[in-house]
Amino acid sequence: MLCNYYNLFLASGKYIFHRITEFITITVALFAMNVSSGDYDFLIIGAGSTGTSIAYHLALMGKKVAVVDRGGIAAGNTGKSSALVRTHYSNELIARMALYSQNIFRDFQKIGYSGFTRTGMIFPFGRNYKDVARENVGMLRSIGVDEPEIDVKKVREYFHDVNLDGYEYICYEPESGYADPVATSNSFADKARELGAQFIPKKSVASVESRKEGAEAELAGGGKMRASKIILAANVWTNSLLSASGISKSHLLPIHASLHGIIYLRRPEEYRGIRPTLWDPRHLSYYKMEGTSLTAVGSLDPKLDEKAVDPDEPIPEAAEDDYVEKHLEILTETLPSMEKATLVSTLTGLYDMTPDGQAIIDSLSPIGLDNIYAIAGLSGHGFKLSPAYGKIVSDMATGQAPEKSLFDWAHFSMGRFSSGKMIKSRYEDIGTIY
Ligand SMILES: Cc1cc2nc3c(=O)[nH]c(=O)nc-3n(C[C@H](O)[C@H](O)[C@H](O)COP(=O)(O)OP(=O)(O)OC[C@H]3O[C@@H](n4cnc5c(N)ncnc54)[C@H](O)[C@@H]3O)c2cc1C
Repeated sequence: MLCNYYNLFLASGKYIFHRITEFITITVALFAMNVSSGDYDFLIIGAGSTGTSIAYHLALMGKKVAVVDRGGIAAGNTGKSSALVRTHYSNELIARMALYSQNIFRDFQKIGYSGFTRTGMIFPFGRNYKDVARENVGMLRSIGVDEPEIDVKKVREYFHDVNLDGYEYICYEPESGYADPVATSNSFADKARELGAQFIPKKSVASVESRKEGAEAELAGGGKMRASKIILAANVWTNSLLSASGISKSHLLPIHASLHGIIYLRRPEEYRGIRPTLWDPRHLSYYKMEGTSLTAVGSLDPKLDEKAVDPDEPIPEAAEDDYVEKHLEILTETLPSMEKATLVSTLTGLYDMTPDGQAIIDSLSPIGLDNIYAIAGLSGHGFKLSPAYGKIVSDMATGQAPEKSLFDWAHFSMGRFSSGKMIKSRYEDIGTIY
């Protein structure tokens, strides 16, 4: 009798053990399935400033969102960004987007931490562009941008020995500055997560495909993810993904990658402290005064963008010596005291260039990918516009008519390049100021 009880006890122990093992196995399998084949309203590929902002905007609308990135948040070009936040654009639509975005950066505590530092920004123009710039400032003021005209004396309050020979019109943006691109993207992501979005790092998407209802992403390590709509926010890697998805070369997006270097210097004593960014179109450069002691020197030279590089090949980790040398020479012509600066480091990153230097934001139905959208070709100035891009893409992907949206995103269609409706800049040969 006792033996029977013992056997029964053993049997039920085994039964419980098996049930627990089974439960764990199913849970793990379900978890794996959730990661590889969960159903979402939107699946975003790319977790840079663009993808995370879109996720945040869609999550705010109550949508079920997943974001997948082969690295992690801000692991792509966002992490390399100078992250300057300005409103001086010469196209009204883009200027409105920049102002909308700048206001979000200034009031970012509602979302999280962006590291936005208001430094002011100085834009000097030579004789050729004096009238154009003045007219442009009129347009900027008409949409609400605070953009006073200043003189060299005022610039010397920030940089005592600045050399602005050849510049005849100088405007100043007191509200502009720079943000922290990694913190911004993580804050968008955290807020989206709070609203239910899922972020999946270290998963590469091998290809995307339309389905009768929705779309599907094939993961490089195996497994699929399905969603009603897929949004590609994959920057310079967008065309590689489209090629792998069977899109022919002639139907790829008109974007190419170009290599840009940033040079970090420690400023001499007399230039320390919070100071404005100085644009130097004469030398096709900008000088960002980062924190209280660093300067980041970046190039505005469109020639850099003429040379396409393969985004799937590794890029040099540091800027080349002659690039550094040339830019140090240029810098000291404009800011002579920088001769005493010391080199700290350099970095390189990629711009996803389009022929007019503005983004492509469109449905990919015309190239056979129904329920799939893309935002790419941000052309090296996409960080500051990331809040506006989030708004635009979330409106577009949820079926809002472009003309009813805050920003008429029809202007960003890929068809504009063949129909001659490129987005125009008033500035043509003074670098990538747009
Ligand atoms: C040196 C430099 C300086 C810049 N300075 C400024 C500036 O001052 N102001 C400004 O406004 N902008 C600036 N920019 C531009 C700005 O940083 C970018 O436009 C913006 O950050 C791009 O964000 P993104 O999310 O579109 O791209 P990325 O940050 O590149 O994100 C794309 C993501 O997609 C992921 N991905 C790609 N393919 C796949 C795949 N198949 N599967 C899974 N994941 C994939 C990548 O891992 C990556 O994380 C600068 C850029 C550079 C390089």
